Amino acid sequence: MWFGDLRLDPLSGAIVAGQLRRIENELFAADWAEAKQRFGEHMTFTTADLARTPAQRRADALVEMATRAGTAPVDGRRPEPLFSVLVGFESFAGRICEMADGTVVSPGSLVDWLDEAWIERVVFDGPSRVLDLGAATRLFTGATRRAIQLRDRECFHEMCSEPAKRCEVDHIEPWSAGGRTIQRNGRMACGFHNRRRHRRRKRPPP
Ligand SMILES: [Zn+2]
Repeated sequence: MWFGDLRLDPLSGAIVAGQLRRIENELFAADWAEAKQRFGEHMTFTTADLARTPAQRRADALVEMATRAGTAPVDGRRPEPLFSVLVGFESFAGRICEMADGTVVSPGSLVDWLDEAWIERVVFDGPSRVLDLGAATRLFTGATRRAIQLRDRECFHEMCSEPAKRCEVDHIEPWSAGGRTIQRNGRMACGFHNRRRHRRRKRPPP
């Protein structure tokens, strides 16, 4: 027999529990439909009459989750976490750092997820007014990244021909200055030219 006992960080736990619950719900619907057929349309039955106990259903859901993982297409789209940054929210409701289900997490626990996360910015004007909602990512990923790679093919610097596969996609107008993560604002930059650009000092004002 196998006995389960595991410890996961809050985000990993939410991913596992979310999928498990989703499959569990499917199995519950199947059990319910089976009981309905067994008892007939007009007989009353309760969850105690279902073919499986909740624990059995959860165990079956875990196995089903593993089975589906084995049959998932290799090029299937992986789910990515979405981080919503609430700007101005803290002035009337205090600072929060929590997951969609309300679990409070430390900002540090999010760091490992940043390079695969989507980030959306929500600017509040008061408790009930959202001034601006910008869906954006800090990093170029997926199709946008690929489009820029294909378009530029090498480092943006005119004297550099480092191929795109050894370059990063850089923001032309920096993210920190409000530059958006869109194709128009992206370009390929080799490590050297990417770093050099960020070291450059601002020109003194005239
Ligand atoms: Zn370069």
